[in-house]
Amino acid sequence: MQRNIIPLIDQRALQAVPAVPQTRIAATGLLADTRGRRVRDLRISVTDRCNFRCTYCMPKSVFDRDYPFLPRDALLSFEEIARAARLFVAHGVEKIRITGGEPLLRRNIERLIEMLARLGVELALTTNGALLPKKARALKDAGLHRVTVSLDSLNDATFRAMNDVDFPVASVLDGIAVATDAGLGPLKVNMVVKRGTNDRDIVAMARHFKGSGHIVRFIEFMDVGSSNGWRMDDVVPSAEVIERIRAEMPLEPIDRNYEGEVAQRWRHVDGSGEIGVISSVTRAFCSTCTRARLSTEGKLYTCLFASHGHDLRALLRGGRSDDELSAVIASIWQVREDRYSEIRTAETARQRKIEMSYIGG
Ligand code: SAM
Ligand code: SF4
Ligand code: SF4
Repeated sequence: MQRNIIPLIDQRALQAVPAVPQTRIAATGLLADTRGRRVRDLRISVTDRCNFRCTYCMPKSVFDRDYPFLPRDALLSFEEIARAARLFVAHGVEKIRITGGEPLLRRNIERLIEMLARLGVELALTTNGALLPKKARALKDAGLHRVTVSLDSLNDATFRAMNDVDFPVASVLDGIAVATDAGLGPLKVNMVVKRGTNDRDIVAMARHFKGSGHIVRFIEFMDVGSSNGWRMDDVVPSAEVIERIRAEMPLEPIDRNYEGEVAQRWRHVDGSGEIGVISSVTRAFCSTCTRARLSTEGKLYTCLFASHGHDLRALLRGGRSDDELSAVIASIWQVREDRYSEIRTAETARQRKIEMSYIGG
């Protein structure tokens, strides 16, 4: 397949809102980075705020009353988000995920869902589930396809300690039930596994959701951001997660649904469903990483572990045409070389990085 070549734009000029030359826009699916990776997924963070303080993501000691969350006018408007998303879809994006922070805290989020649903690509949202009982129906009616709910333990004391706002397991389970009834299921349930904190709950989680249709995904604790005190010793390798579950319930590996899927899939041998493991630390998947991230204030990041992003908001608000914006997006993606997880060391883990709640998980 022949790739359209798009003229590269000087990255420094992005700051100054350049006069980007009219250029040919890459046809759907043809844009690729330096390693031949397409831009297939777009994750959009709609708020950097959250009603939880998960210790591995927004520890209270850092995200306290004085934390400088973004002011309202810094946030991309729904119109700006929808416009940017449309241009990404023209470049080959097939799946959009709304995230944050806690995306259901963004006022009238269902209005954004409605706007994005018109783009005709798969539309998903990741949430801590607290507001699902209130919002699930409106989200479904607005055109949302799927919801992923984060739930780190079924043990109430452990979960309350991990979210650090004393939020009960039962309310998240209620959110999952309401979302399922609203037609947003089957769901994916994300559990970040941290050694000594919730790893004793792995098997109970797999057992609870076995046969429910929902898919639990066990995520290795990652060194995102600079405030969660990450240590390699706290990571439970996915191989160990699988072994622990397998000791109780027979599992067998199954193929990925598509190239670039981050989770490795395993099915219960008795046919009662599947689980997934996401091994960002012990088994990097950078070579097939097709994800772009749009931060709450409109910066484009090409890696979860990036230290800087590209300011699209200045262009969106600067009177640039769709062609110009599209060319800028292409120029950024075409020079992408990211492979952080492949080259992670104790040293890189300590470097300053963007917080997950800001860039979008
Ligand atoms: N607030 C929503 C939620 O919790 O689902 C959406 C945003 S959250 C940043 C997205 C996902 O990132 C969640 O599943 C969360 O568990 C995961 N996450 C956050 N910090 C992480 C870390 N240090 N390592 C691995 N996963 C993490
Ligand atoms: Fe909030 Fe989600 Fe981060 Fe927990 S993981 S603090 S719910 S953004
Ligand atoms: Fe993609 Fe960066 Fe994660 Fe590698 S480290 S899989 S490039 S987001």
